[in-house]
Amino acid sequence: MIRPVLQDDAFLADVAAARAEASSPRLVVWWLGQSGFLVCYRGECLLFDPYLSDALTKKYATTDKPHLRMTERVVDPARLGLVSVVTTSHNHTDHLDAETLGPIFAAALQAKLVLPAANVSFVTQRLGAEARERFVPLAEGERATVGGFTFEAVPAAHEELAPEYAGFVVTVGPFRIYHSGDTVRFPGMVERLRPCAVDLALLPINGRAPERRVSGNLDGVEAAHLAYEIGARCVVPCHYELFEFNTASPASFVAACARLGQRCAVLRAGERLTLDPAP
Ligand SMILES: [Zn+2]
Repeated sequence: MIRPVLQDDAFLADVAAARAEASSPRLVVWWLGQSGFLVCYRGECLLFDPYLSDALTKKYATTDKPHLRMTERVVDPARLGLVSVVTTSHNHTDHLDAETLGPIFAAALQAKLVLPAANVSFVTQRLGAEARERFVPLAEGERATVGGFTFEAVPAAHEELAPEYAGFVVTVGPFRIYHSGDTVRFPGMVERLRPCAVDLALLPINGRAPERRVSGNLDGVEAAHLAYEIGARCVVPCHYELFEFNTASPASFVAACARLGQRCAVLRAGERLTLDPAP
């Protein structure tokens, strides 16, 4: 089992230290495993697609598709009361987990939930009607601002384009972050994203493997090429090392980035990345 670089108290101490530098112009990002990231800027924090429970391990325990964890949980979601906004890019449990979002929302009373507009009734069913007042539904191309973060929903294809799948381009201070959600490459993707002038792209690398009976994503080489073609200043891979049956090595991603001259950062779970504003 992989131990997070920073976990529980050590992780929260690192977050608190970063938030205490509220005058810093830097963007601070931690990988929480799978597609989960904590992003803080000037003391304000956003969570992308957190999965911080064993909901899937329990759900599939007695099936022929066991979801055995490879990496320990970074932090108890009940301790993330510091976040002001959370995303769910689509309805799969590794991106929409009641056992993660329930404790977060119990601790973060004001926190909002940004979601694809097409998923409002599904997410209401999963999280309960009382969660609805937190919803910030976005259809493709729509924008909304929560605190210092402005979200724009962009298309995602997991593996088909559909309104139930989204990526989000988030503007905070001078930074643009692209969290693709689960997606493969689709026609027009680069043209849609290149004008967004992305500073940091957060992209899956687990690829397509029909024998795993899960919807596919970009593989490492595709993620590197996408980041390069949209002009992302830096790219971080994700969606691996959570479940034994559905993982990938970041080696081909790193090699492709090197060939392209694309800046990348491979984080370990619980590890911090600090990004300076573009010169
Ligand atoms: Zn996923």
